[in-house]
Amino acid sequence: MGKMTNYNHIERNNKLWTEKILIIYWILFLISITGHMTGWIITVYFFPDYSEGFFLNLLIIPATIQLALMGITTYLIKIRGISNHILMTLTGTLLIYAVIVTHLEIPGLQILFILQMAAILVYLDQKKLTFSLYINLIAIMSLYLIPEMRNTITIYEFSCYVFVILGSYSIFRIVLSRANEVLDNLHHAIEKEQQLIVKSTMMERLTKIDPLTNLYNHKTFYEYLDFLYEQCVTSDMPVQLALIDIDNFKQVNDLHGHSNGDIVLKRVAQAISEKVTEEDIAARYGGEEFAVLLTNKSLESTYQILEELRHRIANEFHSELNNCITVSIGLKQLEKHFTKSEFFHETDELLYKAKHNGKNQTVCDQLTLAAVK
Ligand code: GH3
Ligand code: MG
Ligand code: MG
Repeated sequence: MGKMTNYNHIERNNKLWTEKILIIYWILFLISITGHMTGWIITVYFFPDYSEGFFLNLLIIPATIQLALMGITTYLIKIRGISNHILMTLTGTLLIYAVIVTHLEIPGLQILFILQMAAILVYLDQKKLTFSLYINLIAIMSLYLIPEMRNTITIYEFSCYVFVILGSYSIFRIVLSRANEVLDNLHHAIEKEQQLIVKSTMMERLTKIDPLTNLYNHKTFYEYLDFLYEQCVTSDMPVQLALIDIDNFKQVNDLHGHSNGDIVLKRVAQAISEKVTEEDIAARYGGEEFAVLLTNKSLESTYQILEELRHRIANEFHSELNNCITVSIGLKQLEKHFTKSEFFHETDELLYKAKHNGKNQTVCDQLTLAAVK
């Protein structure tokens, strides 16, 4: 699956770069036309006698051939969606071929085949470069078959061009190796970075979450308390703290063992995380004590939620204990004049009151009974 995605990605990239090579060819075409026009203007001014033949043979004919080639290639790429290096190599070679054939009098234009190979470098692919070399060698050989061409250059010059092209090809191959080495290094670096991101996300989770209950741990609770305290002071967002402690839990451990105690702890944690919303923060504050920060709710609705939670816990039968367990809850709404530690300690006081009054209850000193009903 990963390989497939990679392959598609490369394909898409090749299509994009084929279109870029097409742009390079159009630019070369325009440069070539500009060159011809300049030559024609100079001829008209300085050699008026030659200008008529020049216009037709050296401007109109090559420009028409090149334009036709570019038109066909553009059609194949843009309309037919064909985008491969073979098409680009053939077009490039033919464009240069047309320039050379229409300007047999200019020596050395064979060197232009190097430009074609340079354009194919864009694909960063040795095989494509080698294919381009073969096509260019075939083109240069076939040029020698043209009698007029044989008359203008010697076999010595001709073999020089072949070796210049072979030399350029060797240099391009080295450039490609270097580019591919850089690409490989980049891929490795990206892979390593992705592994690190996964690892650090896991590590971050480990430092934030209590492994037994999957709730936030003590440290993270305090981070959120700091953050929400600021929010409440600056933006009037309602924030309440609930401290929830399991009643007589020591007995549970003593009578049924620590591991059964752990099972019960997990169930209570599960009940808490199912009851709170995404706006709330539930943490395991200590051994069998949980702290929940509730936000964006009225104190009345928070009280309601906690009472529902308390009833749910009290009604859950634990087969390991052959019994139910209960929790006591202290609830306090943050008021602006509280310091953070006052907020926490006053809530703890309310939890203590709940224990003192007989456990299995929620105590809040900011609610009137009428409001709750
Ligand atoms: P109270 O109703 O007053 O809260 O009584 P309690 O027995 O629950 O209170 P106490 O603080 O005396 O005991 C808490 C017990 O919780 C002590 C310890 O054995 C147990 N405990 C703390 N952490 C864990 C834990 O991770 N797993 C288990 N199984 N027990 C734990
Ligand atoms: Mg307890
Ligand atoms: Mg306790």
